[in-house]
Amino acid sequence: MNLILMGLPGAGKGTQADKIVENYNIPHISTGDMFRLAIKEGTELGQKAKSFMDEGALVPDEVTIGIVRERLSKEDCNNGFLLDGFPRTLAQAEALDSLLTSMGRKIDYVLHIDVDQNVLVERLSGRRICPKCGTAYHVLFNPPQEEGICDKDGEALIQREDDKAETVKKRLEVNVEQTQPMLDFYGQKGDLVTINGEQDIQNVFEDINKKLTEIS
Ligand SMILES: [Zn+2]
Repeated sequence: MNLILMGLPGAGKGTQADKIVENYNIPHISTGDMFRLAIKEGTELGQKAKSFMDEGALVPDEVTIGIVRERLSKEDCNNGFLLDGFPRTLAQAEALDSLLTSMGRKIDYVLHIDVDQNVLVERLSGRRICPKCGTAYHVLFNPPQEEGICDKDGEALIQREDDKAETVKKRLEVNVEQTQPMLDFYGQKGDLVTINGEQDIQNVFEDINKKLTEIS
């Protein structure tokens, strides 16, 4: 079962990734983990990637793809994998396609957890912090007893600049611009499965499950 998990920040990707790998016993492969492993193992590509990262530069696609190849060749991927955070661009998606073909494999499903952008803005801009004790609240998911006031010390809560709706919106738009061409690409290939991410966590997972049992 070879899967890619996609979704904008706040769509609940991490939670669903945990559930998928637990249920289907496939490794969760995130970009960050993949780089860390290659660097730790000291592979040639890992060293190359590290030299770019040390300079604060983007790791070129050819290096990244090489690292993906190394990771997917490991034994724990024999029964499948869940890619998360890769591919990030259309060019990477196309490169992944050729890579898998050369390995005699293919992607079974691209699971896209779809949540309306306005809902994401609500989710992502709800964080409030107590400037005195640092406790974090969320206006929807973890509200203080009294609106805008810290439960512990009565201090007025603040919203960080990064959490403001306008900032969140801009961040999401950049993401959408990058993601959309990939969704189109996988849509045309017939691999794309859109999951309604505006349900509770369990129902989102049940929808994913339904799809995955068709191929397992
Ligand atoms: Zn406080």
